[in-house]
Amino acid sequence: MKDSFDYIIAGSGLAGLSLLHRLLHEPTLASKRILVIDSEKKTENDRTWCYWEKGTGLFDPIVHHRWDTLSFFAPGVSQTFQMESYRYKMILGKDFYSYVLGEAEKYSNVEFLTAHIKSISANPTGAEVKTEEKIFSAPYVFNSTGLFYPEMNTQNTLLQHFLGWQIKANTPHFDPEKATLMDFTLDQKHGTTFMYMLPTSTQEALVEYTLFTEKVLEREEYEAALKQYIHEDLGISDYEITHDEFGVIPMSLAKFNRTEDDHGRIINLGTAGGFTKASTGYTFYFVQKHLDKVVANLRAGKSPLVERSFADRKYDWYDRTLLDVLLSKKVTGRDIFARLFEGVKPESVMAFLANESSEWEESKIRLSVPLTAFIGSGMRQLIAK
Ligand SMILES: Cc1cc2nc3c(=O)[nH]c(=O)nc-3n(C[C@H](O)[C@H](O)[C@H](O)COP(=O)(O)OP(=O)(O)OC[C@H]3O[C@@H](n4cnc5c(N)ncnc54)[C@H](O)[C@@H]3O)c2cc1C
Repeated sequence: MKDSFDYIIAGSGLAGLSLLHRLLHEPTLASKRILVIDSEKKTENDRTWCYWEKGTGLFDPIVHHRWDTLSFFAPGVSQTFQMESYRYKMILGKDFYSYVLGEAEKYSNVEFLTAHIKSISANPTGAEVKTEEKIFSAPYVFNSTGLFYPEMNTQNTLLQHFLGWQIKANTPHFDPEKATLMDFTLDQKHGTTFMYMLPTSTQEALVEYTLFTEKVLEREEYEAALKQYIHEDLGISDYEITHDEFGVIPMSLAKFNRTEDDHGRIINLGTAGGFTKASTGYTFYFVQKHLDKVVANLRAGKSPLVERSFADRKYDWYDRTLLDVLLSKKVTGRDIFARLFEGVKPESVMAFLANESSEWEESKIRLSVPLTAFIGSGMRQLIAK
């Protein structure tokens, strides 16, 4: 194996492989010498990605299911809405990995290495990636490993943790056209807690027990909550669990850098680059929007470092404010989301959560939340910037 490349992709999860896919679909970049390094071979169905977007997306060929109707429930609030322009989409991890890797195999200019990366360092003209065995270099290294994660602790970070069961009921129970985005009609004794329910056929659905709290629970607690919900709320007693998925996503006020050096030679992607939305944990869509710009810069012969725009800073502030309120426990997550879905047109809430809202929608959102709690957190996060 050579030791110098045009690009090194360090970490081949969502962000690394999304970048690879985009590079290979860009005629001016598709023949670049690319090295992809990960400590794991990506074959497992280790996560299910959901996101919403308008129109057709790059990964539409592997979308497993899509919904145009979503529901939101909380005590006293019941909203079922048909989205106008957004579609809620689901991609299975295994489909994503095999789609991108299967296509990349056809390119002799792309090499894959399964190895643990010990460090990544930069110099004015490039960056180096060190594994146990060897050092590799390239003008740009795209990093989505956790090597540069900032310090996260219970003061600045909430964990979004969940156990999801893909279930198959013995008789038809679901409407595969309608998904439940959040059902907050649950005990909130641990903190912000909701159920997420995505039916993919009349008999099958992914049901996820999700919490935003400081620490994860014992496995039995998630299982007990899922059993109760499936039995009592969905009214299903005869079913089998065909797949399960446990996840922890950091929702953090810590500062994730887009680059690690003065010359912009190490470009952070994905969660490592701060593309996990601090207030919701959603990442997929924000990774794609960032990578669109990275590839556009490379195509134009520019640095792949995407500077933060005014809109980036604005949504960052909204997210940090909401997370600050949740961390300070001044208002519960259930109360905030219930007010949003009760007081604002749901499509506008979805646009806001996708960082695509208009000024008018944002003013409606600002007016719907408890002002005193948000003003304090908003000011604190403005100063912290
Ligand atoms: C179970 C689960 C479900 C999720 N569902 C959603 C969802 O529905 N919607 C959504 O928007 N977001 C979701 N997320 C959040 C987010 O989209 C994912 O975490 C996403 O995978 C983040 O992409 P990434 O590329 O930053 O990290 P990853 O996909 O985790 O990729 C990082 C890669 O780096 C490799 N790596 C790390 N350290 C090293 C090292 N030192 N050396 C070599 N390789 C290394 C890892 O093996 C991994 O392959 C989910 C997360 C989880 C865990």
